[in-house]
Amino acid sequence: MLSIKNLTVNVNDKQILKGINLEIKAGEIHAIMGPNGSGKSTLSHVLSGKGGYTVTGGSATYQGKDLLEMAPEIRAREGVFLAFQYPVEIPGVSNIYLLKAALNSIRKHHGQPEVDAMDFLTLVKEKVRLLEMDEKFLYRAVNEGFSGGEKKRNEILQMAILEPKLCIMDETDSGLDIDALKIVSEGVNSLRSPERSFVMVTHYQRLLDYIKPDKVHVLAHGQIVKSGGADLALELEEKGYSWVEEAAA
Ligand code: ADP
Ligand code: MG
Ligand code: MG
Repeated sequence: MLSIKNLTVNVNDKQILKGINLEIKAGEIHAIMGPNGSGKSTLSHVLSGKGGYTVTGGSATYQGKDLLEMAPEIRAREGVFLAFQYPVEIPGVSNIYLLKAALNSIRKHHGQPEVDAMDFLTLVKEKVRLLEMDEKFLYRAVNEGFSGGEKKRNEILQMAILEPKLCIMDETDSGLDIDALKIVSEGVNSLRSPERSFVMVTHYQRLLDYIKPDKVHVLAHGQIVKSGGADLALELEEKGYSWVEEAAA
């Protein structure tokens, strides 16, 4: 699904990612953990095509294609999805309009006809129920005035409708209370499939109580300093990050 080799990235001439290597197979969930400022969002953003980053070396191959060569909107249509750490508000654009436009854009890219209006409504309402959201959220402007937790739920709603192949989730758990965390996790778990992979960026272990990762990687100072199974997250919860950083240094 995704193969990252020796990826180095600068922001404003400062090296932020210092040689990332990562192999993610279809169906796998990889958790990227690490202290604040270690480069987790930078990695998420570079993979999804956000501007402002300069790739200075290495590669990222997605389904056999050079991901870094693709425009961000092409990446999205090809099935790369970024759930933002800080979802943006889009005043004047209703949630349901955005969802439908995004879905149709993906369908068009794959030579499929526009989604039938009634089928779409049925689909959206089913997913809204799954995420225990109020249907009113569909008709409000995207994320405008949403609480932190509602914004994160809305990201998962987008994911559930657009059915991406590679879901990159940047600290989806931050700002969620325990009930919302469970609902969001159930939403993610319902999307698990042998054809779909997840890169789950998280600072805390608690999300991984609900979504069990296949692999856990620790990012520190722009490098993956340790990789392991789901148990590594528990060890980090217990000991913090400093021991891994020290061991790597
Ligand atoms: P994390 O998500 O792990 O908290 P980030 O990827 O957001 O880390 O940031 C990694 C490092 O890059 C930090 O030191 C941060 O200050 C720096 N950085 C990120 N974006 C910018 C930017 N636009 N301009 C300058 N420095 C940046
Ligand atoms: Mg941060
Ligand atoms: Mg971040």
